[in-house]
Amino acid sequence: MAVLQVGDISIQRIVEHEIPFYYPLDFFDEATAEAVEPYREWLEPKALCPETGRMIMPVQSYLVRTRHHCILIDTCVGCNKTYSEPPEWHQRENQVWLSNLEAAGVHPAEIDYVFCTHLHSDHRGWNTQLVDGRWVPTFPNTQYIFARDEYRAMESENSLIFIENVQPILEAKQAVLVDLDYALDDEIWLEPTVGHTVGHVAVNLKSGSNRAAMCGDLIHTPLQLAEPDWSPTFEYDRTISTRTRRAFLDEHCESDTIVLTAHFPSPSIGHIVPRGSGYDFRYVPSG
Ligand SMILES: [Zn+2]
Repeated sequence: MAVLQVGDISIQRIVEHEIPFYYPLDFFDEATAEAVEPYREWLEPKALCPETGRMIMPVQSYLVRTRHHCILIDTCVGCNKTYSEPPEWHQRENQVWLSNLEAAGVHPAEIDYVFCTHLHSDHRGWNTQLVDGRWVPTFPNTQYIFARDEYRAMESENSLIFIENVQPILEAKQAVLVDLDYALDDEIWLEPTVGHTVGHVAVNLKSGSNRAAMCGDLIHTPLQLAEPDWSPTFEYDRTISTRTRRAFLDEHCESDTIVLTAHFPSPSIGHIVPRGSGYDFRYVPSG
């Protein structure tokens, strides 16, 4: 597992899986076969599977080690969880993510903080695990940082999702509800990037003059670099998410900020650069 160094901060991807997943035409209302065709050569085979026509999208966390803290950003799908969609995530027993975390040299008890960019199914699953029929925090010595707006929206649903993934954290008194611009210290802080969900945040990292930003589901696929106005059908507010995505891309295009994506194909990490009237991604090989 490659380690990316951002000043004194080390960053590692902890991958749960990486497979051809959604079809562009199912993911975006705007994506017709004619609209996607001009981008196929640019996206294949890395981001768009030539055999299946599906977008290749990992589900992964970022393990961040600063001088002071051991941090996880997002916690993937998890095990034994109730999912209606997609069916292969329902009641999964695959523990590969936990094995990959241990292979990175970190035991769950060593995690100081978990940050969730938002609380969708592929970003909160390992928050908890099932032990003797009870949902308990996977990370026993951790403070879980949830954006207050995101938490409140999920709490009001009071769904199985909340009961399995979030409520046990509250009950264990390990949840910390924060504003959308919360700063843990001068090396890690949140930035509101709402639209995908009501309380979606990006996580910024800084060490000296070195910067990185984990963008969560603000951008799902490189296809949106060519078409930044395409928002997934399941967004909370597609107009706001488009505006937020464009602002993020403009801010970081040709900057030194290393962007850590949630779902771009491996190595998932890179720089935003211009391409025609849109953007491209220059992958950082060590990611
Ligand atoms: Zn996601």
